[in-house]
Amino acid sequence: MGFFLSSLHFSARCVSKPPPMTTENLNPFAMAQAQLDEAAAILGLDKATHAMLREPMREIRVHFPVKMDNGSVRVFQGFRVQYNDARGPTKGGIRFHPEETIDTVRALAAWMTWKTAVVNIPLGGGKGGVICNPKELSTSEIEEQDVPAPDVYMTPQIMAWMMDEYSTMMGHNEPGVITGKPVPLGGSLGRADATARGGVITIREAAKVLNFNAPEATYAIQGFGNAGQHAARLMRELLGARRLLAVSDSRGGIYNADGLDWQAVLAHKEETGSVVSCPGAQAITNEALLELPVQILIPSALENVITGANAPRVQAKVIAELANGPSTPEADVTLRKKGVFTIPDFLCNAGGVTVSYFEMVQNQTNDYWEESDVVARLDRKMTQSFHDVYRVREAQKTSMSTAAYLVAVQRVAEAMKLRGWV
Ligand code: NAD
Repeated sequence: MGFFLSSLHFSARCVSKPPPMTTENLNPFAMAQAQLDEAAAILGLDKATHAMLREPMREIRVHFPVKMDNGSVRVFQGFRVQYNDARGPTKGGIRFHPEETIDTVRALAAWMTWKTAVVNIPLGGGKGGVICNPKELSTSEIEEQDVPAPDVYMTPQIMAWMMDEYSTMMGHNEPGVITGKPVPLGGSLGRADATARGGVITIREAAKVLNFNAPEATYAIQGFGNAGQHAARLMRELLGARRLLAVSDSRGGIYNADGLDWQAVLAHKEETGSVVSCPGAQAITNEALLELPVQILIPSALENVITGANAPRVQAKVIAELANGPSTPEADVTLRKKGVFTIPDFLCNAGGVTVSYFEMVQNQTNDYWEESDVVARLDRKMTQSFHDVYRVREAQKTSMSTAAYLVAVQRVAEAMKLRGWV
């Protein structure tokens, strides 16, 4: 695994975008290329630049043996895609997935390229994947592989192992090669709620440009994990938004037209493992939650929950895509026609990768920031990024999603030109 490790610039935190398959089951990479093609046409990109951006710059495919607990040896396959590094070293987590494919990893790497560009951090986009089912592997088998578990299986402990392994190979301490580390090993303060904080900041800015009163706005949150729980707290803390009407998790949802107390919901979830049956609220399905007459909908769980089928029934005026890929392309078209203001995932949830970048900067300078500094810098970055995209939306009379692509693709194309590549 040394080769796999040493050839990468790791990001450890889960920034993976699950492939938002359409009902036609489009190949995710074909979908990523189609999104690029649309932006390239609007920007009038020259052929060479467009062609470079349509394909990954580098791909690595590895097969490696792992000694299993029962003494046998299994060979696993992994991929690493370095999509584009014109703006800086490629960044993107590594996923364990039993059905991982090179095309999924290519698509995720492309989306990381646009995500780092839209928030204007000096990084490129990459992604890694290992075909395996982590639920079938023991802790020691996972450590043996020296590859971090991303997404829901990612833990700071695995990041620490990876950093330690890489540092051993290099012969000196290299904390900056991996982000999402525990704070005592060079992790950044403010990382835990960075994704939700970034998303709530974009909602705050949306309220300004759309001229609605955030404290009075009603909202619903699908998913009550890392992103959803912090979003519930920060909507209240940052925006004074007290009208959280519904939340849900994988077991179901709860609703109260007069508002839920997020702290009571959290306490109930910690006690019982779910938000379901929280006292003072009525049951609601995950499907019904998406169609509630709320002003703001915050999908914070899974991809593809808003589809061509239910999008016509969505009543929210603003959708803040904290989850990756919560709306299918068909849903996007319907929502756009309905005039829904969607803050696209790669802008809305970019707070996480932004603080991962701050973590690298702190590691490289050996200067560790107070949490209040991290929060203030994140706020500046997200506010600026939101308005960069909003300005293009206004100028082009287009959606926030297309505008975000235009901003991101333009930035990567400009970096390639300045390097003399195209
Ligand atoms: P998590 O595992 O902590 O939480 C996921 C939540 O979704 C849980 O409450 C789970 O019960 C709920 N859920 C699962 N299946 C569901 C279903 N069918 N219906 C409703 N809820 C369901 O994960 P997370 O880190 O909060 O990530 C959530 C989303 O945000 C993912 O799309 C992830 O890719 C995206 N994201 C997270 C981060 C981050 O830093 N945490 C960064 C970028 C994007």
